[in-house]
Amino acid sequence: MSQTLHFSCTMCGKCCHDLRLPLSVDEAIGWLGNGGKVECFCEAIPWPLEPAADDLPARHKRRRSFAARSGKLPVRVIVNLVASYEGACPFLQADLRCGVYETRPRVCRIYPAEVNPFVELDPARKACPPEAWSPENRVLARGGVIVDAQIAALAAQSREADAQDASVKAALCASLGISTAALSNEGFAIHSPDRDALYRALRAARESGLRAADLHDEPDAMQWSFASNRAPTRTVLEEIGANVTPLQDNATNACRYLGFHADQ
Ligand code: SF4
Ligand code: SF4
Repeated sequence: MSQTLHFSCTMCGKCCHDLRLPLSVDEAIGWLGNGGKVECFCEAIPWPLEPAADDLPARHKRRRSFAARSGKLPVRVIVNLVASYEGACPFLQADLRCGVYETRPRVCRIYPAEVNPFVELDPARKACPPEAWSPENRVLARGGVIVDAQIAALAAQSREADAQDASVKAALCASLGISTAALSNEGFAIHSPDRDALYRALRAARESGLRAADLHDEPDAMQWSFASNRAPTRTVLEEIGANVTPLQDNATNACRYLGFHADQ
């Protein structure tokens, strides 16, 4: 899809319901400080070789991940800090205005545009009503590219924060003992630390500067395990030397699995 997309928010509030908001480290600290809850959605990618310079999707994943090992296998781990709610956002007011408007996360400011440069904006996958996409509204995207300068700048800031945060997340996981991830594109291993513990650990990880930077590209810094609901995936991972954790063990460790595919 690459037509011209026109957009104007109707303030319907639909995007403030049934959320999975990805937050930067600073935003997560603010969200927790405001009384919200945040979880860690973890995914990992086997990374035996560095990608070619022109493999842009792989370079994008590299920037937002940190190096680790799973058994003998070099991997890169992506930790998404997510504010996840069924129903209304806790900061949505009765009049459908945002209760933290001045400090609302970037993803709220960017919506319905995509942060991921490799995901094209598709109105059919967004909560906005048809009138929000009226051709009389201002142009948001043309030929698959966001042309609204403000939204494009926010998306670029979001990607930059994602890259900056990778080493902080490495330090965070080390301090909280988080070390289980789903195979990337198959699902997430979701860790739900105690809210106050996560708040303190995030602040400490953000301040740990040099140590965190060291962890970013040090593959031996941490051992991670894969969780998967698919037997073929578990078999292949074990064959290439990775650690695989049974799903039932994850449940006892305050970690649950969200699979994109049926159990197999
Ligand atoms: S923070 Fe504000 S804009 Fe974002 S989902 Fe909540 S109410 Fe909506
Ligand atoms: S769903 Fe779309 S139109 Fe409705 S409030 Fe959110 S951004 Fe605006």
